[in-house]
Amino acid sequence: MTLLLFVTYKVRSTMFDKLIYIETFGCQMNVNDSERIVTMLADLGYAPTNDPASADMILLNTCSVRGGAEEKVYRRLANLRIYKRDGKKQIIAVGGCVAQQEGEELLRKLPYLDLVIGTHNLHLLQDMVRGAERGERRSETSFIDNDLRLDLFPSIKGESRLSRFVTVMQGCDNFCSYCIVPYVRGREISRRSSDILTEVRQLADEGVREVILLGQNVNSYGLKSDHEPSFAELIRQVADVDGIDRIRFTTSHPKDMSDELIACFGDIPKLSGQIHLPAQSGSDAVLKLMGRGYTRESYLGKVRKLKSIRPDIVITGDIIVGFPGESDADFEQTLSLMEEVRYIDLFSFVYSPRPGTKAAELSDDLPRAVKMARLNRLMELQRRHTMEISLPYVGSLMTVLVEGEGKLPGQISGKADIGRIVNFTGDSSLIGSFVDVRITKAYPNSFLGEL
Ligand code: SAM
Ligand code: SF4
Repeated sequence: MTLLLFVTYKVRSTMFDKLIYIETFGCQMNVNDSERIVTMLADLGYAPTNDPASADMILLNTCSVRGGAEEKVYRRLANLRIYKRDGKKQIIAVGGCVAQQEGEELLRKLPYLDLVIGTHNLHLLQDMVRGAERGERRSETSFIDNDLRLDLFPSIKGESRLSRFVTVMQGCDNFCSYCIVPYVRGREISRRSSDILTEVRQLADEGVREVILLGQNVNSYGLKSDHEPSFAELIRQVADVDGIDRIRFTTSHPKDMSDELIACFGDIPKLSGQIHLPAQSGSDAVLKLMGRGYTRESYLGKVRKLKSIRPDIVITGDIIVGFPGESDADFEQTLSLMEEVRYIDLFSFVYSPRPGTKAAELSDDLPRAVKMARLNRLMELQRRHTMEISLPYVGSLMTVLVEGEGKLPGQISGKADIGRIVNFTGDSSLIGSFVDVRITKAYPNSFLGEL
């Protein structure tokens, strides 16, 4: 599943004389990068718009984690290009993982494309856009694999929201055999803790109440450095910042989930009671082929520790179905792992071979129909677990950070400590505060409640 997010922004002031339209695909890193792009382009006079027809610049921030991504980008660009064809002077740009993967090739294939911005090159964006305004076409996809990168984590200014991402690390060194991320996001690097804390303090001053510490594998934060704290210690430092009342993080790799980090769930009340801990498979044979660096038992051991330290913790995860060589017995092991863990939510994907990865060389003779049948079985089990875990919350009180209007008129909406959306009738003056809400109904993706 590729998420397509139309990030909605408000125009902040009248100093803007141009409009940018952004479509964001994929994970939170891309959502975060799109927010940075908006911040950087505001300096050049661009205000965000949700209408591509009226935009002076269109940018697709792309994802290539699963197959078909490149084709999807070509198709989407072909659709968006109609506005430019009408004779309008419009800059068209591609950023993110497909840009990194394809580079110059995209410019060669698409004569109407102006800019290709790789994952390490956002700091060049303003310069590239100025050039494009003068008619220059440019592709920048070099990796920066030295400490210069530490100074290239621009913070996001602008609209005060209540919950913000804070990047703590970028890239990945794990090279799981199926995954393209290390090739398109480059080597893992941890940001300076001093910079992270400065950013968190600034956000708290702007009124932000919740931070989500972000990276491909946050719990290996600092491991490559002699002078940075561990991720657990970093969380403790963030928790000391006045004004920040809730901390989340994503994504966690199970092999780097230390006892020190697990202990944080027991004694840091600000740390959310939800953790995303992707298992990918419940079979040791498949985990080995995936190169995940843990076994089923060691994964389950960490889950047990988390539950003993924080009995009300809720767990979400990722599973890949139909990895090359996955037998019926392997798949049954995945279902039984789900029964043991009992995820409240699960992102499940059919394996998709990615160019250049080790797994793409494995022979994969499992028919597509079998993979889809497995995926459907897994999703059915998950739907049952989601409701079995959610229903007992009916009647209980949840502390909700109210973030905006709800879906229905008169409703407001926010996130509970366990990360679930709660909609309830209330006054919009409550937006920005934590309120106690009694849960009255559980849905597959949210709760209904009353103040
Ligand atoms: N770093 C995170 C981790 O290791 O858990 C995951 C990041 S990855 C961008 C998000 C999810 O995409 C993975 O957890 C995996 O389930 C899925 N994914 C990655 N490569 C895939 C592939 N080739 N086919 C299917 N799913 C894939
Ligand atoms: Fe991909 Fe594995 Fe790195 Fe996650 S840890 S981004 S799945 S290589």
